[in-house]
Amino acid sequence: MSKHVQNVLTIATSDSCGGAGVQADIKAISATGCYAASVLVALTAQNTQAVSAIHTLPLDFIEQQIDSIFADMNIASVKLGMLFNRDIIALIAKKLKQYDVANVVIDPVMVSAGGDKLLQDDAVQAYLEQLLPLATVMTPNAHELAVLLNEAPTLLESDLLQQAKQWQQSYPTALMIKGGGLQDSQHSNDYFVTPQQITTLIQPRIHTQNTHGTGCSLAAALASYLAQGQPLIQAVKSAQKYVHKGLLTCDQLAVGKGKGPIQH
Ligand code: PLP
Repeated sequence: MSKHVQNVLTIATSDSCGGAGVQADIKAISATGCYAASVLVALTAQNTQAVSAIHTLPLDFIEQQIDSIFADMNIASVKLGMLFNRDIIALIAKKLKQYDVANVVIDPVMVSAGGDKLLQDDAVQAYLEQLLPLATVMTPNAHELAVLLNEAPTLLESDLLQQAKQWQQSYPTALMIKGGGLQDSQHSNDYFVTPQQITTLIQPRIHTQNTHGTGCSLAAALASYLAQGQPLIQAVKSAQKYVHKGLLTCDQLAVGKGKGPIQH
């Protein structure tokens, strides 16, 4: 008897240009072998150059979407993307506890590549207090890690590794830290952090401006590989490989005048 395709739920925000957010998640989850369901918490008016508007959905409607999914589907993994404010975060934390999901991948989205704010300042604490205890793994970039630790963001690998150690001393939650934003023209390494170890996942840098939605795609692919039963370290490596592959061919796309998306 053939094994069924696993269901992955992304709870995230729409990106109208299709490069990041829930659209990237659905593409990445589908391309990595799972079925994607999606709950939207907000919509953005966005292109490859800027986010021009954000419209959050009513909390009771977000809750209805989640209840509809769990009333009908077996969900093997949940991926959380842009959640925007602390009320939405509190609701999602409540619903994840209620439905007791096995794998939860959290991308703590804060700022777009173009510099637009995607999380309100007073929501950072809600991530730490309410979502972190429910996470299988969190996928911050260097800037997001610094904000979560209340430290200054860094462009240097040595400082980032210090912050990774600080994380280990403060929280038991595993991280996959995305090092693509660091100052290193040769490499774009990522870092897998657990209370026991810090593993550098070495990767050559691909020089392209089309990096829109890489973070969303990485976390969604990670949720998908976990849903298929890969151990966490293996799923992290598979997700890194998936995004690397998408970056190799992204210059074939001609999506806009700014930072274009990766290919799925
Ligand atoms: N828009 C939405 C809806 C997102 O969820 C995200 C990232 O998670 C972004 C934009 C930012 O994507 P990027 O920083 O890759 O441009």
